[in-house]
Amino acid sequence: MARYTHLFFDLDDTLWDFRYNAHEALMDLFEKHQLHRYFTSFDHFYQLYEPKNLELWGLYGAGTITKEFLSLERFSYPLRLVGVHNKAFARLLSTDFLAIMITKTKLIPHAQEVLDELRAHAYHLTIVSNGFRDVQYDKLRNSGLLHYFDTIVLSQEVGFMKPDPRFFEHALEKSAANVSQVILVGDNYEVDIVGARQFGIDALHFNRNGSSIDNKPQTIINLKEIFAFL
Ligand SMILES: [Mg+2]
Repeated sequence: MARYTHLFFDLDDTLWDFRYNAHEALMDLFEKHQLHRYFTSFDHFYQLYEPKNLELWGLYGAGTITKEFLSLERFSYPLRLVGVHNKAFARLLSTDFLAIMITKTKLIPHAQEVLDELRAHAYHLTIVSNGFRDVQYDKLRNSGLLHYFDTIVLSQEVGFMKPDPRFFEHALEKSAANVSQVILVGDNYEVDIVGARQFGIDALHFNRNGSSIDNKPQTIINLKEIFAFL
């Protein structure tokens, strides 16, 4: 009998190539709104945007700021730095960015074949994501992933974000599983892996770049390696 019956998957940068898709969407946004009027190049804009975006996600994860503040400030901030103080414009960029991003469909290598194989073996598959509810379903649908999943658990619906134990408690309940039946796969060590393990759920760290691979036995750099743990 298989060790696990349920797999929990993080979505962004575990199955859906967030880094690539977001970068593409920002480039489209830059063109569409002619942001070269304010920034010397796309890279100039991106170098102001990205560190701020990461910082804001940290604050959002800690519950310090709202989703609305994050969405607006990540565009307001680079604009302010080039002397553009226009909240309405920042809001337009924010809305448009998400609208463009959900049309991007690049997946992590082997995501689909791994999910096909898991479905063929009748595993119960659950998405566990801290991403915005407005966009996660569209991302799943547009990239052809939605049909693989029996259960979708989004932090905005739960009211708690990974790594909060109450998030995992809810995810187990919604998937009708107990801790020993589940293995989680995620790319964010602190949020996904530490969170799951603290709750007693086994977890595989998807360390896509293989950077800083130490000798942690439960680290994978290719999604196909999952099968070795099932
Ligand atoms: Mg992720």
